[in-house]
This record gives sequence, C-alpha cells and structure tokens, in this order.
Amino acid sequence: MKSYLVDENGYYGEFGGAYIPEILYKCVEELKNTYLEVLQSENFKQEFELLLRDYVGRPSPLYLANRLSKKYGCKIYLKREDLNHTGAHKINNTVGQILIARHMGKKRIIAETGAGQHGVATATVCALMDMECVVYMGKTDIERQHINVEKMKMLGATVVPVTSGNMTLKDATNEAIRDWCCHPADTFYIIGSTVGPHPYPDMVARLQSIIGEEIKKQLLEKEGRDYPDYLIACVGGGSNAAGTIYHHIDDERVKIVLAEAGGKGIETGMTAATIQLGKIGIIHGACTFVIQNEDGQIEEPYSISAGLDYPGIGPIHANLAAQHRATVVSINDDEAIDAAYELTRLEGIIPALESAHALGALKKIRFNPEDVVVLTVSGRGDKDIETYLDNYKK
Ligand SMILES: *Cc1c(COP(=O)(O)O)cnc(C)c1O
Repeated sequence: MKSYLVDENGYYGEFGGAYIPEILYKCVEELKNTYLEVLQSENFKQEFELLLRDYVGRPSPLYLANRLSKKYGCKIYLKREDLNHTGAHKINNTVGQILIARHMGKKRIIAETGAGQHGVATATVCALMDMECVVYMGKTDIERQHINVEKMKMLGATVVPVTSGNMTLKDATNEAIRDWCCHPADTFYIIGSTVGPHPYPDMVARLQSIIGEEIKKQLLEKEGRDYPDYLIACVGGGSNAAGTIYHHIDDERVKIVLAEAGGKGIETGMTAATIQLGKIGIIHGACTFVIQNEDGQIEEPYSISAGLDYPGIGPIHANLAAQHRATVVSINDDEAIDAAYELTRLEGIIPALESAHALGALKKIRFNPEDVVVLTVSGRGDKDIETYLDNYKK
C-alpha cells in the first residue's frame, strides 16, 4: 500500500533527506540510529506519557463547537492544544526531544526560535530536566517578542541575538546549526517543527502524533467511528499539522486541509505561502519547497503571524501537496484576524494567530451537513492580543 509517511532513506516522495555539512554527519547519523529505538522503548513511553499527562495536561479536549458548527453547516470539533502548558502544541515535541537527548548522554541543549514559542517550550523542559539551554533568536524577533525573551531568561536560558541576514527565524536556524557544528559531541539540537535533516521531520511528527492518537480515541467515543471526514490545521513548518494527521495520513476517507499564511496576498510578494509559491530547493538540511528568487536565494517570507513565516515547509507536507493528498489553502492576514474574532465571539476561545489561519480555511470549503470536521487549535491567543486589537476593523 502507498504510504505518505517517511521511507527508510528519510524521504517523503522526492522531499526530505539529510543535506548536511560533513562535520554534522556523525551527530545526525547517531540520532538517526537511536531515535526509533528510544521512541519505542518502554522506559521512554512511560516517562513521556507521564509527563504529557501530569506536566503538559494531556489529553487535550476534543470540543464540539456548537455555534461554529451551526455557522458552517457541519459538525466541527476543536482539538484544544491551546490548553497545554506553555499555551501551544510545541511542548509535546520539546518534552520528547529532551528525553531523547538525556538518553543519548547530551548535556547541552540548543534551539532556534522565531516568535519565541519554541524557545519558551525548550527553556521550559531544560529547567525541568536541569540542562543548559542556549536559544538563538534573530535580533528583529527579540525586539518584537519581548515577553517571550523575558520568559526564556526567567527559565534560565541564554538567549543569543542573531544579527545576520534579516535577523529572523531563518538566520537563527543557521546560527543554531553553526553552534551544533562547533559542539557536536555534547550538544543536542532541539528543532521546533517538522523541518531540518532526516530524522528530524519524522521524529517531530512522531512526537506530535499524540494529537492524532487522542483524536482517534475521542472521535470513537463521541461519534462511534475513529476517523473524521476532514482534518484541518495550519502549517508553518508543519508540526501541529503532522501530529494531527499522522494516524489518518494513509486513510483516504479523511480529507486533509492545510492552511498556510497568505500574508497580504500571494500575489503581493508579502506572503509565507511556501507550498503554493515555493520551488524545490534545499533549506536547513532538507529538500522541500522553498520561497526563493531566480538565483535560488531564499527570500524573506511575511505573515502577520510570527509562527508561520518560515520560507520552507516540512517535507511531509510538500509531498502531500505534490501528490494532491492534501488541499492547501492560503489564508491572508485579514482573513485570519476575522476568523479569530469569529471563534472568540461564537465560542469564547481566543486562538493563536497561527491557529486562526486554520479557522480561516472553514470559509473555503463546502461542507455537507453530516460531515465531521476536526480542526486543531494549535495555541492560545494571549501572545497575540496586541496584534488583534491593532488590526481589527469593525
Ligand atoms: C509555532 C506555532 C505554529 C507553527 O508551527 P508548526 O510547526 O507548523 O505547527 C502554529 N501554531 C502555534 C500556536 C505555534 O506556536
């Protein structure tokens, strides 16, 4: 049977792989040869499950949103990752990776961050596990995301300002990779999404697949069947989406909808719609769609949502799009803002701006009344209140 999961060489169709500098070959090989064994060990499973339950607060509820359902003429369930500790799905992945790092005897953790959400989730688990934590963050983002920087510092992390390039996520990632090259023996690099060289995309997808595992159980309880008609999620690098769809990815009864950030509109150039505008290239060790100019230089993406403006996309999603397994929609800034207000007013839930892009996708689909839809609310909107207030026009 055809599978959309990773193959034994680290590829999803023609996407993925591990395009890395020679000096990292040993580290990446070591991780590749260890991660599955750790993930499948009883010790890991027990500790991961316990932390997800008692520390993160899982399982996250699957909530039947009645008023939203009525509005769109179908049955919409919200997967509430916004209720997790630290406010988003990112913590699922950082808890898992720090357990793997500890198993491998690593003493020092590094991470990249854009908006700071992954930085905070990493600093959080480093405090929990008493590990040294260095977070690379673009200087522009440090200025824009002051509170998250203070949180990371309070948690005991060192935040290193990156001043190369546009001083944002792409540059922070380059700097983290450079650090890893200098300290390959004692350092573990916790990547925040389904990006980077194999095995990262697969490892992150497996760690986030707890989202989809719970969806299956919860749907069976509520609907008497363990699959929905639609799964909808936003995609930056693609980790909350990968976790949401993981257990239904090869089940063609389930339609997959991925919402990427249109920014000011895909025709304006101010956009982060990587799947629709990107061309095949290499970014941060993976072959995938990349927003680039005619010379192959990576272009700076734009979105009102700091968590979605990555110029690449996880190879798992590039393949789903290329094979037409997933429908990809781009949601512009204003559509996301409207969708966030709509959810807030209909259900009393203020979503993260990233998640608001998934909600914006509801308007682009024609549902049947009997359709069961599961939409992942990847995070809560506390961090975005100022943006909402500044941009709401009504
Ligand atoms: C980081 C983030 C995203 C985007 O990352 P993915 O890896 O695509 O999931 C989406 N939502 C929230 C709340 C985030 O913090």
